[in-house]
Amino acid sequence: MTQQMAGKTAAITGAASGIGLACAKRLLAAGACVVLVDRDEAALARICGPLGAAAIPLVVDLTDAASVAGMMPQILARTGQLDIFHANAGSYVGGPVSDGDPDAWDRMLNLNVNATFRSIHAVLPHMIARKTGDILVTSSVAGIVPVVWEPIYTASKHAVQAFVHAVRRQVIPHGLRVGAVLPGPVVTALIADWPREKLEAERAAGGLIEAEEVAEAVFFMLSRPRNVTIRDLVILPQSTDL
Ligand code: NAD
Repeated sequence: MTQQMAGKTAAITGAASGIGLACAKRLLAAGACVVLVDRDEAALARICGPLGAAAIPLVVDLTDAASVAGMMPQILARTGQLDIFHANAGSYVGGPVSDGDPDAWDRMLNLNVNATFRSIHAVLPHMIARKTGDILVTSSVAGIVPVVWEPIYTASKHAVQAFVHAVRRQVIPHGLRVGAVLPGPVVTALIADWPREKLEAERAAGGLIEAEEVAEAVFFMLSRPRNVTIRDLVILPQSTDL
């Protein structure tokens, strides 16, 4: 594997599991220094040791504004610069609106939307001052297709998608790039509670993908020459029964 990212520093939220962890490993393999941001301190401690000195754990609760405010100073204290920020952390809720917990709306939007905004808001001044930087967001196919099974999650990812588009336009003149990856179902803890029949139908159709495949897609986007604008990359599921 080439050291294509040598000298680069990245920070990835939700990096103690699933897609975030796979993206961290991909960037580390390419020579980057990676700050793994997550609220799960025990998981970060377990994961980062074996990944080597270039993997730096940082405990942040992204739903706590004060904790997010401390994120960027701590990243810079450890690395001195930030070239790539991947706002990846998110959670999931599905099912009928009528049966659901009314607080699920707030929980979902607090992490998937508010934390995405707050964390990107925190890193932008540094990148704008340096006139360079890449921001990636893990969105979802549910960010462009209203998925009937998951109305709250769909609403949160549509908001993320709209935000990504607007921010991209704002920061292009500053030399920054902003892109989103929009996967269908990925085999991670996030979909552990999916109804069995839904999961099996998607698996049978060949539509379940691994976190490492998303990491390759993200790496492809980040590897484009700097004069190529990053846009959004959709990984469509096989099932049409959304
Ligand atoms: P995951 O559950 O495996 O990982 C999520 C990580 O986020 C965990 O390490 C968790 O500790 C961390 N996290 C949760 N709340 C946090 C908080 N308040 N502060 C800091 N960290 C927090 O999930 P995943 O599947 O890897 O999901 C990552 C992203 O991918 C999410 O945005 C999700 O919406 C998106 N996505 C997932 C799928 C899928 O099918 N798995 C599909 C499309 C998009």
